[in-house]
Amino acid sequence: MGADLVLIAMGFLGPVRNGMIQQLGVQLDNRGNVATDGNYMSSIPGVFAAGDMRRGQSLVVWAISEGRKAAACVDTYLSQLGAQPRVEPAQAHPGATRIA
Ligand SMILES: Cc1cc2nc3c(=O)[nH]c(=O)nc-3n(C[C@H](O)[C@H](O)[C@H](O)COP(=O)(O)OP(=O)(O)OC[C@H]3O[C@@H](n4cnc5c(N)ncnc54)[C@H](O)[C@@H]3O)c2cc1C
Repeated sequence: MGADLVLIAMGFLGPVRNGMIQQLGVQLDNRGNVATDGNYMSSIPGVFAAGDMRRGQSLVVWAISEGRKAAACVDTYLSQLGAQPRVEPAQAHPGATRIA
């Protein structure tokens, strides 16, 4: 079939459920995204979600912001478990930024 112009309108259909999401059995919200508590943790302890996976289709600024907050929540969670940090503290690297 001939065409002068073809426009493809593609959108975000939500997290892919086949595979990891189904295998983990995380609870989804009523829009099909991964449901989290206020600390970005899903219904499975130790499994966190941020960005489009949690909010649905959104903006990159939200993904960056939520990614940073979720990372801090992961750090808190692991610290409460008594896990040792796998990287040097920020003080050891003056140029490093510590997420707080
Ligand atoms: C066509 C289009 C245009 C857009 N334009 C804009 C715009 O102009 N401005 C704007 O602010 N936002 C725009 N957005 C939205 C923006 O791209 C998203 O909000 C942002 O990228 C979300 O970031 P994220 O890290 O949450 O997810 P993603 O950027 O989707 O990153 C998720 C990553 O996880 C990977 N992944 C998925 N499943 C697995 C798995 N099982 N194992 C390992 N890795 C996995 C994926 O490959 C991907 O690299 C646009 C989105 C689309 C689709």
